[in-house]
Amino acid sequence: MDDRHSHYDVIVVGAGLGGLYAVHRFRRDGLDVRCLESAAGVGGVWRHNRYPGARVDIESHDYCYYFSEDLYREWNWTERYASQPELLAYLEHVAERFDLNRHIRFDTRMEGADWRPGEKRWEVRTSTGETLTADFLVMATGNLSEARTPDFPGIDDFDGQWVMTAHWPEEPVELEGKRIGVVGTGSSGAQVIPVLADRAAELHVFQRTPNFVVPARNGAPVAEVINKVRADYATERAWMRAAGGNHVQYFLADFDSLDAEGRRSLLEQQWERGGHGMSYVFLTQGVFKEHNDVVAEFVREKIRETVKDPETAENLSPYDHPIGSRRLVIDTNYYETFNRDHVSLVDLREEPIDRITPHGIRTTAREYPLDLLVFALGFDAYVGAINATDIRNADGERPADGWQRRPLTLLGLMTKGFPNFFFLTGPGSPATLANLFAENEYHVDWVADAISHLRQRGYRTIEPTDEGQREWTAVLDKTSAPLLRRHVRNYMTHSNPDGTRYFIPYAGGLHTYIKLADEIAANGYRGFTLGQ
Ligand code: NAP
Repeated sequence: MDDRHSHYDVIVVGAGLGGLYAVHRFRRDGLDVRCLESAAGVGGVWRHNRYPGARVDIESHDYCYYFSEDLYREWNWTERYASQPELLAYLEHVAERFDLNRHIRFDTRMEGADWRPGEKRWEVRTSTGETLTADFLVMATGNLSEARTPDFPGIDDFDGQWVMTAHWPEEPVELEGKRIGVVGTGSSGAQVIPVLADRAAELHVFQRTPNFVVPARNGAPVAEVINKVRADYATERAWMRAAGGNHVQYFLADFDSLDAEGRRSLLEQQWERGGHGMSYVFLTQGVFKEHNDVVAEFVREKIRETVKDPETAENLSPYDHPIGSRRLVIDTNYYETFNRDHVSLVDLREEPIDRITPHGIRTTAREYPLDLLVFALGFDAYVGAINATDIRNADGERPADGWQRRPLTLLGLMTKGFPNFFFLTGPGSPATLANLFAENEYHVDWVADAISHLRQRGYRTIEPTDEGQREWTAVLDKTSAPLLRRHVRNYMTHSNPDGTRYFIPYAGGLHTYIKLADEIAANGYRGFTLGQ
């Protein structure tokens, strides 16, 4: 690694998909950049979430970088939905192809950072005991990266092995013939469960809230789209941004213009297509409960058709939230897995986990003897990675100090009181509602352009104003106001003890977000204050 000094124009934290492009873009702009990465290699979440069955739920032709036409031409995906090993290989290829590794310090965690107002720079402490400084600090630490660790009583007494999907060990985990318990049935749980079932002697799935799960229909990459993009790259790239980073054609049919048979036919077509389109069969299903109910009941019927045991089918069927109001889970053989004799569903609503014992999991009803526990408990979304490190402004405050009631940001990129501190895909950006390759690329470009803007005009600092942040918060609330998903309890909503609940990401779509963020930049960074 090329490292001769300790002051940089920019320090980027994290060498996942956002951090890699950040290093590339900042280098291309002639900035002196250093990336800090706690792992031994690049990849971020696609390095850590190496559980069996891990794959992306957005099609490979979209879930990749668009910043380089050559890269898009030379990389050939092998599946419609890339698996974790293939995504990691792709990110490793990108790091080599663009000579990024020499700007990254691996095995180095950022322990904390302090803003030094006199020098107008960030002082960054690392796990290797060094102090580096930078004019700009860019957190590329992801919004679904800080995993929830299991804190069940008794976990330390468990005699077998326990693992987390979000930090699946690099060394092989013995699965063959084991009695395995999986806790958590979100996207990660639903992917790992069918694969574990192939190897386990017994598999017990501990489910707290059923999710709507729709088939991925994985297969060969969609050559039609890839060829189209390669044939007219510039147009397609521009279109990707204008369309929100997605080539999927959703039905978005007018619910009222169809009769029951017409609706059913579209739902069947979408079920056969697979993927996220089930959230967008009717234009209004995310807003009107009665429209949503038709889609939800269609999926519940599919569950009843697939799962042979009626009681298990009922326990797997979600009734407590509208379909698409939590992230739709995209799977291969999830419901089918519950027809296997050695697989059981444990409904935690009926029998909550009491504790982990040396021999397994004890619920309020009985003990399940197990050799291996797999926790797929999700993430401290949006703010977890920012809070996990000790970042302090000039007054010694941390970003979350002002976020008790809800995260407050401008564009989900910066927060007031923290000059020159950017977080990619943060709270208040489209974040988990967007294709994260597309959003990270856009965010990095926005930050890089902002830095050039400052430097060309002799400014040294940028941070949101109170008013800018208030206006953006109003935009967030207005955009999410009509949506059913705003009322749902999951990682996308921030709930307070007094009952107030806020939807965290920007819900208007990446394409609309890009227009708003471009406008803010074009208007001299309206809502931000630029300082000398
Ligand atoms: P998640 O959707 O938040 O699911 C976490 C699961 O753990 C839920 O079933 C949750 O139950 C359960 N859980 C948490 N704490 C528990 C406890 N104390 N006792 C029992 N159950 C508990 O997390 P995830 O599955 O990792 O997915 C998160 C997001 O990551 C996804 O929405 C997606 O955006 C992304 N992701 C994508 C892919 C993909 O591309 N295919 C794969 C994995 C993840 P409750 O629902 O009751 O809280």
